[in-house]
Amino acid sequence: MPQRFDAEEVVNQSPPYLDVDLYGSDQPLRDAVVANGGGADTAALAEFGRRWGAAEMFDLGRQANENPPRLRTFDAKGFRLDTVEFHPAYHRLMAESTRAGLHASTWRSDLRPAAAPAQVVRAARFYMAAQIETGHLCPITMTRAAVAALAVEPALAERLMPKILSRDYDPHFLPWWEKTAITLGMGMTEKQGGTDVRTNTSRAERHADHYAITGHKWFMSAPMCDAFLVLAQAQGGLTCFLMPRFAPDGAVNALRFQRLKDKLGNRSNASSEVEFAGAFAWRIGEEGRGVRTIISMVQLTRLDCAIASAGIMRMALAQAIHHARHRTVFQKRLADHALMQGVLADMAIEIEAATALVMRLGRAFDLAANNPREAARARLLTPAVKYWVCKTAPGLVYEAMECLGGNGYVEENLLPRLYREAPVNAIWEGSGNVMCLDVLRALANESEAASAVLDTLAREATDLPGSADAARFVRSALTCADAEKDARAAVGRLAQLAAAAALRESAPVIAELFSRTRLHDCHGALFGTGDFAAGEIARVIDRALPAS
Ligand SMILES: Cc1cc2nc3c(=O)[nH]c(=O)nc-3n(C[C@H](O)[C@H](O)[C@H](O)COP(=O)(O)OP(=O)(O)OC[C@H]3O[C@@H](n4cnc5c(N)ncnc54)[C@H](O)[C@@H]3O)c2cc1C
Repeated sequence: MPQRFDAEEVVNQSPPYLDVDLYGSDQPLRDAVVANGGGADTAALAEFGRRWGAAEMFDLGRQANENPPRLRTFDAKGFRLDTVEFHPAYHRLMAESTRAGLHASTWRSDLRPAAAPAQVVRAARFYMAAQIETGHLCPITMTRAAVAALAVEPALAERLMPKILSRDYDPHFLPWWEKTAITLGMGMTEKQGGTDVRTNTSRAERHADHYAITGHKWFMSAPMCDAFLVLAQAQGGLTCFLMPRFAPDGAVNALRFQRLKDKLGNRSNASSEVEFAGAFAWRIGEEGRGVRTIISMVQLTRLDCAIASAGIMRMALAQAIHHARHRTVFQKRLADHALMQGVLADMAIEIEAATALVMRLGRAFDLAANNPREAARARLLTPAVKYWVCKTAPGLVYEAMECLGGNGYVEENLLPRLYREAPVNAIWEGSGNVMCLDVLRALANESEAASAVLDTLAREATDLPGSADAARFVRSALTCADAEKDARAAVGRLAQLAAAAALRESAPVIAELFSRTRLHDCHGALFGTGDFAAGEIARVIDRALPAS
């Protein structure tokens, strides 16, 4: 008899967290969807949650990141290719997300926003997809956001819309009019400035019916998109353009990719450095109004950054709770140790707040077209929500990683990827300070409407512990003469106040706990420092992830 090899028997390890129902197991998400008008889509969201929670989808996410895209600049004979090759898993993820409409379901073919609750329902799907793989969501989010900018050129946009709205995914490198479906990217950042796009040096020379653009972009993600919104200096100043990969005569357009960035995370997504050698482009909007034109797109990508960060945190928390329920230390399951319970509950409350907040913001986008108050809410809160949710993610994912002990630090686990992924949402589409400045800009330029939003939030959160003081601080700090000085503290507080108000609608008990530990008490910098009663802790953790 061969002797049994001891290491074959594995005990006291948690089973894989796979084949999970991402919607059914997420009560905070379900409550937030219903509170914000998406209840009628429950069955479709449940189907999406089961599909994306399948072991196969987790594996696609792994493969797409373990096999990052490769730039093919030239062929064997020295002819330019300027193409990027992706692993089949990336294409599968793109096809899944496109099929579900993540790239366009908030638009109608006439360029008007789809009826409510299109934003909320898409946000729920985007949040679930982000739990599995975020890199491919970059072209998905840019495609849906770009429509907002294209709307100022209806004649061109109407030709593109059928390809944008298509639920196919067509990765072929062909002129857009020969494809069944297209995706759109965006290039604003140059070497000398990303935030300060007015320093863009790319030049646009006017021709009869188009412009020729010469210059570069230092970051231009998803380079296999079919066209890119880019900023360049025309005679009338900084202007927005749409630059297709193929010129209308069918020739490959003059985009010369120099390198792909070697990034900390977001590895399934290609982010290029690119030069334009007189590249063909259509003008989008008037000359000199480039920033104004592209800003409508950026509002939507900022919303998606916050949704994706909330999704990343959700997956990290689910992994942590799952592991803690199966791992025994000192004769007790980790999940039964008071210190661990405090950490898990504190993270769960933070994520539930982030989830309620992004879903409520989605509702503001849903209602904005017909309701000026909701439009003002979306304008003021989008930068605040992006600031707070995206900045919370890295620290929270790190804490969740630690709940898994050494396993959490090991690459076969999902946590290292989530950890590497977490910071980018705070950096791109306007970094932290820039979001704070944008909140101040809204209060300065649209002061009446923005001020009314602060009043509404104070009213909505009324009676929640600490809300009155928080509302007073936010108003005085953000409207004083030297508001920049305290802007980070005040914008973070504004987001927390808005989160309390959102929770009040979707989960009143959690609203109370969140407000007590965040607005009233001084919450420590680390998770696990909130002051909860034992019964509260159990309820919060079970709500976050029911025991299976
Ligand atoms: C993975 C990845 C992919 C990207 N993809 C794209 C893409 O597809 N298209 C694209 O156009 N860009 C892309 N970017 C670029 C990204 O949007 C920029 O890096 C970002 O906007 C910041 O610009 P910057 O790098 O020039 O930094 P800077 O503008 O130099 O900013 C540096 C820091 O200074 C802060 N700061 C700026 N202004 C102020 C101020 N007035 N007061 C106080 N602080 C300030 C910022 O908050 C930031 O923290 C990508 C970036 C990454 C990391």
